[in-house]
Amino acid sequence: MDQPLTKEQTLKSRDKYIGKSCTLFFRENPLKIVRARGQYMYDENDVEYLDCINNVCHVGHCHPDVVKAGSEQMSILNTNSRYLNDNIVLLAEKLLSTFPAPLSRVFFANSGSEANDLALQLAKVHTEAQDTIVLDQAYHGITYAAMAISPYKSISNRPDWVHITSNPDIYRGKYNTLKYKENELGLLYAKDVENLVNDLNSSNRKVACFVHESLQSCAGQLTMPENYLKNAYKIIRDNGGVCLADEVQVGFGRVGKCWWAFELSDVVPDIVTIGKPFGNGHPISAVVTTDEIANSYLKRGPSFFSTYGGNPVSCKVALTVIETIEKENLRENALRVGDILIRKAKELQKKHKYIGDVRGIGFYIGIELVSDLEQRKPATREAEWIKNFLKEKHIIISHDGPDENVLKFKPPMCFSEKDADRLISQLDAALTELVKINENTPSTI
Ligand code: PMP
Repeated sequence: MDQPLTKEQTLKSRDKYIGKSCTLFFRENPLKIVRARGQYMYDENDVEYLDCINNVCHVGHCHPDVVKAGSEQMSILNTNSRYLNDNIVLLAEKLLSTFPAPLSRVFFANSGSEANDLALQLAKVHTEAQDTIVLDQAYHGITYAAMAISPYKSISNRPDWVHITSNPDIYRGKYNTLKYKENELGLLYAKDVENLVNDLNSSNRKVACFVHESLQSCAGQLTMPENYLKNAYKIIRDNGGVCLADEVQVGFGRVGKCWWAFELSDVVPDIVTIGKPFGNGHPISAVVTTDEIANSYLKRGPSFFSTYGGNPVSCKVALTVIETIEKENLRENALRVGDILIRKAKELQKKHKYIGDVRGIGFYIGIELVSDLEQRKPATREAEWIKNFLKEKHIIISHDGPDENVLKFKPPMCFSEKDADRLISQLDAALTELVKINENTPSTI
């Protein structure tokens, strides 16, 4: 469809022109997707795939209202953000109405990485400090600063202002439910944050900022241990720092129950970054913060200007995305269908020995695969095998986490109960087949 090259030609051209470190979802026989609608994507032969992981096309691929809003605005005006225009203020007002006080100021940018980069600048200018605490295995983006705070990516030159605390993984992390009671874990992980802050203080350094995803997604599709963020926030704030919640992947109602996943931990961050779903595929992101921090930046920071950040087209698109979430009750859908999925995945867990843990809320779900239930050994090859099995059944799913053994589920918000049934029944088939193969020809996995 409107694609001039055959798949082989596309692959060849990619190989010739595109940076080799730009990765694709499937290493072997990658998918060529030529069109999409709702929760379905179509390849060059018009084969339909069920999309279980696209947390960018949030309200559904090519949602007609979003497409219409963007294309109409494009035919009227698009320009940089240095002129007065209603779209930016209408979007700001609508967006901020979804946040609790005192989060009341917004800066627009174009990607999650840019938002995190700017958020770090705000935190550092406001606190007049540099040291930044981040969670192990977290990912926050591709700019120099965002990469620096992303232990998910190993880089050789991580700056000395970055300090890594333990990944609060209660299933296979440093403190886990094999060794401790579940309700102790939040405090234990927060204690690691406290130890880091104390180390900084005793070497005459000062914490500027604690950065975390509201739910650790790349780090293994984790939920936060009870009271972890509450305790960590207190330690950081008592020591003059601010708390930055990255909602780029988990925000915009994905968890169903609330707009923002930090609300699940009953905390209010000082700075929040958002991106991915904001434009339903159109690039727009933002930093939301308090008046106080925005004022510090005004007084002591540079003036801020992003050429495209907050342009009339992006703002119109993003406003329509938020309105669509409300109009189509997509948060309610995420909660209802997500509950069904979690329940059915837990039923599969009773049947299949590879499923160690099922966790999540709404359309944020992780299924952790292990090769040994008692020792919780990661079943990495098996996760990859299941991903490829599902691809053959025309279902797209990913796997992630430090050992890449967690099946990740984060579909467009219009994912239906019928889609959930299809996914679960194919997952059931995959796990049944996996046991057979592992008994007969394990080397083929
Ligand atoms: N934060 C998180 C949690 C992300 O998942 C990502 C993207 N995967 C980013 C930031 C960076 O966003 P972008 O790719 O839009 O720069």
